[in-house]
Amino acid sequence: MNATDYQNTRILLSSRPEGEPIAKNFHIETIDVQEPAEGEVLLRTIYLSLDPYMRGRMSSAKSYAAPVEIGDVMEGGTVSEVVESRHPDFAAGNFVLSHCGWQSYAVVPGGRHLRKLDPGSAPISTAVGVLGMPGFTAYAGLLAIGNPQQGETVAVAAATGPVGSMVGQLARIKGANAIGIAGGADKVAFLRELGFDEALDHRSPDFKAQLKDAAPKGIDVYFENVGGAVWDAILPRLNTYARVPVCGLVAHYNDTQMPAGPDQMSKLMRNILTKSLTIRGFIQNEFVKDYYKTFQQDVAGWIASGQIKYREDIVTGLDNAPEAFAGLLTGKNFGKLLVEVAPDSTRV
Ligand code: NDP
Repeated sequence: MNATDYQNTRILLSSRPEGEPIAKNFHIETIDVQEPAEGEVLLRTIYLSLDPYMRGRMSSAKSYAAPVEIGDVMEGGTVSEVVESRHPDFAAGNFVLSHCGWQSYAVVPGGRHLRKLDPGSAPISTAVGVLGMPGFTAYAGLLAIGNPQQGETVAVAAATGPVGSMVGQLARIKGANAIGIAGGADKVAFLRELGFDEALDHRSPDFKAQLKDAAPKGIDVYFENVGGAVWDAILPRLNTYARVPVCGLVAHYNDTQMPAGPDQMSKLMRNILTKSLTIRGFIQNEFVKDYYKTFQQDVAGWIASGQIKYREDIVTGLDNAPEAFAGLLTGKNFGKLLVEVAPDSTRV
């Protein structure tokens, strides 16, 4: 087949969501695929990674990265198969980590930004999950900022997701106690399977009391993934010299206005001062230079030894991406959320 025989289905951002993203914020269309030019490759998307940061890209509010423009393809990390190559480093049938966004095909320049994947060494889907950006976020944020010590207590919410599940398991590997916080009984049961010392449901009416019982010696590291009511419960439990890597605030991504009062700022500042807290935000790519190599070696080893387990939530069909993405922000996913855009022929 020639490239022009393929049809590309793609999802464009058609309007900026107000609150939760809904179907009418997206436009699905099918267009012809172009022939790759010299130095380019034609990629077929196998997996599209859905990640909470995409909510920020749908908004025009100033942030650390530029928004997706109205009418552009939604951006996103992908695992793709090379269909046709006009670049010497790639051949048809290669699998690559790519960033093609919410579409079924893409013609992109070949080069180092495409990382070849070996389906024999790890499932290709893990390149956007436990062995990819979310796993790395947890590894770098926890080690560089959280710095958990033997016997300390580490807490994390969104704990069954790809970031939180890595944080908790890594804390255990470092000899710390891990408190996992998640939404619902099934997720709490899974946290126990992962080896968390304590597993709590943030939706329980007595969540605050449960947290107090689960951390009798207080919390030394709180890996902040969510904000909201979980943060309110955590703050009084933080120990002197506690570290808080601020990774994400998913409870607020759909907010359309500031939360109702009373203003909590003076309480927060008093806690920071009197407990000598370290609260430090980060974006994972700032740590790539210093941590990426050890991350890949360590985590591949821990998966092989069974010390790190991971769970994927795979939705089939690109058309389902908008709904699945909206669900990610409200906890409908259970594990790393992926869209299988085309069948994964490597899956055993
Ligand atoms: P997850 O797969 O864990 O999905 C998000 C989860 O957040 C939901 O499943 C839900 O889990 C939880 N959640 C949603 N709303 C609330 C709420 N109100 N209170 C408590 N929990 C809530 O996502 P990831 O593991 O991919 O990402 C986790 C965090 O890390 C996100 O904030 C993300 O933005 C951030 N991140 C930051 C990066 C950086 O460089 N700083 C890079 C990558 C991710 P549940 O049902 O258990 O409540």
